[in-house]
Amino acid sequence: MPDQPIEREAMDYDVVIVGGGPAGLSAAIRLKQLAAEHSREIGICVLEKGSEIGAHILSGAVIDPIALNQLIPDWKDKGAPLTTPVTDDRFFFLGKKRRFAMPTFLMPPFMSNHGNYIVSLGNLCRWLAEQAEGLGVEIYPGFAGAELVYDEAGAVRGVATGDMGVARDGSHKPSYTPGIELRGKYTFLAEGARGSLTKLAIARFALDAGKEPQKYGIGIKELWEIPQEKHQKGLALHTMCWPLKNDTGGGSFMYHFDDNLVAVGFVVHLNYSNPFLSPFDEFQRVKHHPVIAAALEGGKRISYGARAITEGGIQSIPKLAFPGGALIGCAAGLVNVPRLKGSHNAMLSGMMAAEAAFAAIGENRQRDALTSYETAFSASVIHKDLYRVRNVKPLWSKLGTVLGVALGGVDMWANQLIPGGFQFTLKHGKADSDTLIPAAQAEPIDYPKPDGVLSFDKLSSVFLSNTNHEEDQPVHLRLTDPDIPIKINLPTWDEPAQRYCPAGVYEVLTDDDGANPRFQINAQNCVHCKTCDIKDPSRNITWVVPEGGGGPNYPNM
Ligand SMILES: Cc1cc2nc3c(=O)[nH]c(=O)nc-3n(C[C@H](O)[C@H](O)[C@H](O)COP(=O)(O)OP(=O)(O)OC[C@H]3O[C@@H](n4cnc5c(N)ncnc54)[C@H](O)[C@@H]3O)c2cc1C
Ligand code: SF4
Repeated sequence: MPDQPIEREAMDYDVVIVGGGPAGLSAAIRLKQLAAEHSREIGICVLEKGSEIGAHILSGAVIDPIALNQLIPDWKDKGAPLTTPVTDDRFFFLGKKRRFAMPTFLMPPFMSNHGNYIVSLGNLCRWLAEQAEGLGVEIYPGFAGAELVYDEAGAVRGVATGDMGVARDGSHKPSYTPGIELRGKYTFLAEGARGSLTKLAIARFALDAGKEPQKYGIGIKELWEIPQEKHQKGLALHTMCWPLKNDTGGGSFMYHFDDNLVAVGFVVHLNYSNPFLSPFDEFQRVKHHPVIAAALEGGKRISYGARAITEGGIQSIPKLAFPGGALIGCAAGLVNVPRLKGSHNAMLSGMMAAEAAFAAIGENRQRDALTSYETAFSASVIHKDLYRVRNVKPLWSKLGTVLGVALGGVDMWANQLIPGGFQFTLKHGKADSDTLIPAAQAEPIDYPKPDGVLSFDKLSSVFLSNTNHEEDQPVHLRLTDPDIPIKINLPTWDEPAQRYCPAGVYEVLTDDDGANPRFQINAQNCVHCKTCDIKDPSRNITWVVPEGGGGPNYPNM
């Protein structure tokens, strides 16, 4: 262990952006566009923890091109990978074998997917990164923002990347290289749902004071290649109800796009109460429903992954600006839950923050709070998009799927027809870590064994995420108290981490006779979904960035 503080190199930029997703890349592009329009120089860097841009991006995705139309109006000519317009939009309530189609006229027009595109968000990000680099943005994949760095006045001055070459026990390996400090006049946190630096900034500047807790879902997705005769390019299909019980929110999506590709996935709201529930196994089950199985049979699964999605909506958005920086995209939680869409808002928020920072830098300001970004946000289309669906998630959580979704529909119609809708805003209540009931009061769930054709086990799934971490490094899933999993979580909730983690990272091992339980963390399997950081009932797990470049390598999720 070093006994001297490590000297780090520092690099200065106008704006440092942490996260190369839709929000971060759109902010970078907008800043460079503004600089070109005003004949000014501006230094922008984007840090991305994945081995390349897109490697950690997992989404549906049906995207609303509203933001792209503004950011790069000639995106078609520039070859953006949006080639599958939605041509058929279907919605089903499922029973175990049955299905009930919901007529689309029951949905308010703003829920329609007309004009939207089915894409790989990872590939869209790769294309956005090319556009950004073409404008002079410096992009550093394989570098994770590990720490926030503050100035003497306590404002964020930038971030430090993680040290490389640290062994599991904290000692320095021969390959040791200290992290670098990237300093900016402004630092944008664009880490997506449950960002690790975002969490620190929210706590330090009390950005969530007076707000409802952020709510989350876990989204698990597979990419399939299916026989051409079954492929219905442009079909976007959503389901609800089975296999989840009425008191658990969530549902599946299946999008047919490109050449014989199908994105199939399942979202489970993380405020579920039964500690025996396994989102992974619910997903494996839903693929056996005839509505989904009919398309997948005869096909081949080619990729797997998982990622948390924000669900709190307008009630849970923290203050967006803090001294020295801003939250953009899903770091702030901008997903429209009933539309299952957030990437358009992520991009729009990045563009808005970029405009505020560009103006501030032009006035020779730095490291203050970009209050003009907050003001622009309150009057923006993002605010409108989220405000009119604000009661859907609380109604769903409180009343269950059947009644909650029906009343949510009524509330959305009210917002379509009357400005401001019913004028009230429902609360979410508890954080997702606080919703499990004790195992002794819960019904165990007997999941069917995977058949290896439509359904699979966790290990073969994780293999398809191409996740990879340097093994000899400190465990990036930190337990505040290492005794809690066995002493508290196991007797009270049957240690739910064994089931909510979609990558089999957490295991409770015992001797052959079932005695001597031990908690094992297989950190190298982690796909960076962040569910453990959200759902652990003891709030004992903190996800921190592993060595840069570690994690999944999604080709086109
Ligand atoms: C299963 C699922 C389905 C979805 N379906 C849709 C859909 O159909 N349509 C839609 O519009 N939206 C959908 N969404 C939501 C959408 O994906 C998000 O709203 C969007 O990706 C948010 O963009 P972002 O840039 O804020 O964050 P992200 O896309 O999460 O990108 C964040 C990036 O930052 C990187 N990063 C994080 N922390 C660090 C760090 N400390 N240092 C360096 N890099 C870091 C990550 O690796 C990642 O590349 C879905 C989400 C899920 C999970
Ligand atoms: S360890 Fe945590 S972040 Fe990693 S895959 Fe499991 S639940 Fe997700």
